[in-house]
Amino acid sequence: NFEHAAVWEADRDHFIHPYADFANFKAEGSQIITEANGVHILDSTGRKYLDGIAGLWCVNVGHGREEIANAVSSQIMKMQYYNPFGHSTNVPAAILARELASLTPGTLNHVFYSTGGSTANDAAIRIVHYYFNQLGKPNKKKIISRIDGYHGATYVAANLTGIHATKIGFDAIGRDLIHHVSAADTYRGGDGRSDEEYCDFLVDEFERRILQLGPDNVAAFIAEPIMGAGGVLVAPQGYHSRMHQICKKYDMLYIADEVVTAFGRLGEWFSSEALFGHVPDILILAKGITSGYIPLGATILSDAVHDVISQPQCVDGVFTMGFTYSGHPVACAAALETIDIMKRENMLDHVRNVGPHLQAYAKKLLRHEIVGDVRGSHLMLGIDLVSNRQNKEGFPASSHAADVVFARCKENGVIIRPIGNRIVVSPPLILSKTDCETIVDVLDDAISAATQTLQN
Ligand code: PLP
Repeated sequence: NFEHAAVWEADRDHFIHPYADFANFKAEGSQIITEANGVHILDSTGRKYLDGIAGLWCVNVGHGREEIANAVSSQIMKMQYYNPFGHSTNVPAAILARELASLTPGTLNHVFYSTGGSTANDAAIRIVHYYFNQLGKPNKKKIISRIDGYHGATYVAANLTGIHATKIGFDAIGRDLIHHVSAADTYRGGDGRSDEEYCDFLVDEFERRILQLGPDNVAAFIAEPIMGAGGVLVAPQGYHSRMHQICKKYDMLYIADEVVTAFGRLGEWFSSEALFGHVPDILILAKGITSGYIPLGATILSDAVHDVISQPQCVDGVFTMGFTYSGHPVACAAALETIDIMKRENMLDHVRNVGPHLQAYAKKLLRHEIVGDVRGSHLMLGIDLVSNRQNKEGFPASSHAADVVFARCKENGVIIRPIGNRIVVSPPLILSKTDCETIVDVLDDAISAATQTLQN
């Protein structure tokens, strides 16, 4: 019950979309997504699509959950907002913090809330600086992150991000503060080396960079357990725990950005310890924490980090950081219900069952000459498109290779995410094995069609 033309006009004239494509403005108007249920979304023309990207790596428990709507509305009716600054609190924020502390590994027991992944990362960097200040090491400020890593859109998070396009013109803060090392890209970076040799190379590069910057100046390393937006890059075995060892050697903190990899996407609540063998000092959560129903981010600190920042030596003992919406009761209620649903429905087991099927079934895409690599883990799948399999060269940006595949998939009712020469798939965790096959079969057809277009 709305006028398409009125929405398109309002959209065109007033709504600056995230990643707005100003250069290719669509005269016919944006696609209006009006409904969503389970693993599907519907647009305003009534067309239905299998949502192969869970909204944007976030709608883990699926769309249209009445239980979350009820939890949210009953919290709104009870107490929709009062600030938890200083000495007041609210029930959902406190109970969720306890729940997160019990689900996370090691001593990750202390939760600082924000509004999403970017603000959670920003908060982490402030906490790291605060921590070393407290320890009497105010020079320890520099952060090392990775090329192709994605950490968000606030000024600091965009600089942590190692994707060049997100930083053009925005590097004023990051220049001296943030330094990038190689992505752990076993497909391209390995260069014929064994995984072990490649891992040695990456760890070595990291250590050399710390020494070059001066260990007294370097505070932390931040990494996604599996790079998401960078193209679902899975590091060689042992990489994360070895990088963490190096952090310990130079008195640095390891920040695991699990915005995508937590809450079941890899068949675990959190992947750092369960799959990658180490417990980070700081854990970053967002997206799946509320399944995308309400914005929420969390920066979780180990006992050791918390002990230091809670010592009353600095600024009269007050930790001067807080968002109006830190610990928002409605968002925390949505998170508690999301976690409950995941437990009630044994969602981790489900992902451990369907995830390997998606990965195995997707290998058939390697039959295409323009597919260089198919990789991932559980419900994170990445596909690299190449113009030349031998030298692994991608298509020129002007051919919009992955967009061509995306368009055809969409025509056939499946949404995937195109990123340059890469395609990523990250569906709601509740999908069936048949849904996995549908996504891959539609991709298979789209890649066949794209091969013709791209090679002509
Ligand atoms: N970190 C990772 C790994 C992400 O994938 C994202 C978003 O895609 C972010 C941080 C930023 O989160 P948000 O967009 O909620 O600020």
